[in-house]
Amino acid sequence: MFMREKPILYVVIPCYNEEEVLHETTRQLKMKMQTLIKEKTISEDSRVMYINDGSKDKTWDLIKEIDNKETLFTGATLSRNRGHQNALLGGLMTAKEYADVVISMDADLQDDINAIDEMIEKYKDGCDIVYGVRSARKKDTFFKRVTAEGFYKFMKVLGVDCVYNHADYRLTSKRVLDEFENFKEVNLFLRGMFPLVGFKTDVVYYERNERFAGESKYPLKKMLNFAWDGITSFSVKPLRFICTLGFTILLISLAIMVYSVIRKITGNTVDGWTFLSISIWFIGGLQMISVGIIGEYVGKMYSETKARPRYIISENLNEKEKKKK
Ligand code: UDP
Ligand code: MG
Repeated sequence: MFMREKPILYVVIPCYNEEEVLHETTRQLKMKMQTLIKEKTISEDSRVMYINDGSKDKTWDLIKEIDNKETLFTGATLSRNRGHQNALLGGLMTAKEYADVVISMDADLQDDINAIDEMIEKYKDGCDIVYGVRSARKKDTFFKRVTAEGFYKFMKVLGVDCVYNHADYRLTSKRVLDEFENFKEVNLFLRGMFPLVGFKTDVVYYERNERFAGESKYPLKKMLNFAWDGITSFSVKPLRFICTLGFTILLISLAIMVYSVIRKITGNTVDGWTFLSISIWFIGGLQMISVGIIGEYVGKMYSETKARPRYIISENLNEKEKKKK
């Protein structure tokens, strides 16, 4: 991979009603960026890019003001509120046109910005994606910790290739983002999609802080919606489960058949009971299997409509040869 000694870094931050945190976030990131530039880790063309996600407060005015005052900061805005994942994707796709490498993070700096150094180090070692992973969740509430960790475990059971305890704090190289543009799906679950891109990846551990101001823009309802999106966008196992259930019930119906016939022979049943009890279980099982089979086809249609790229070539030696000549 071609690599500049001092890569141009863009830090992309989606902001939804974040007027309370922007000043402090800017102050801390400015110091971080200045240090990185001074240490010649990144190019002086590097920027922090705020993406306003159709905020209802003064967030966008603030971003414009910061963009005016600070050379290291810039911004863009969505035409309306589209949610965190869409805003982040918009930001990544905008930033990649100017950058060699992009890091995404939240506006509230809950993710430790000191992990940036290690992320860039790993990038310089040849990694194209570096996932920020929360090493401990001491600062999260008990409820958030248990639900979040349970969710990652459940995704694993469903066969989704997700990085455990990684949210959206990650470094991606320009070429990963160029490939990412070919993922056309609209129900976004970015943390599950990036592992599909592949290339050399690594993780960096950090401790998650508390939000220093303002409140969470992810209330329980949004969180549940997001988790549901993650499951249904990445796994057809719930559909397949219907089939399994159908077969199980059909098996049970066989047992009930035997039981009902024995009861009939021994003579202690009401008229018609044998027929009814067998029918209910047998038809129930049959119907569920039928739904499951339809589900299989729906599942196929669903992955076809996503039209995800079938392969990504990471290196083509023939290309390199041509350049040498
Ligand atoms: N966010 C956004 N659009 C939304 C909701 C949230 O851009 O509709 C941004 C928000 O400004 C923040 C990030 O997504 O930068 C994560 O939100 P938050 O910190 O509130 O989530 P939590 O850390 O509580 O999960
Ligand atoms: Mg947060």
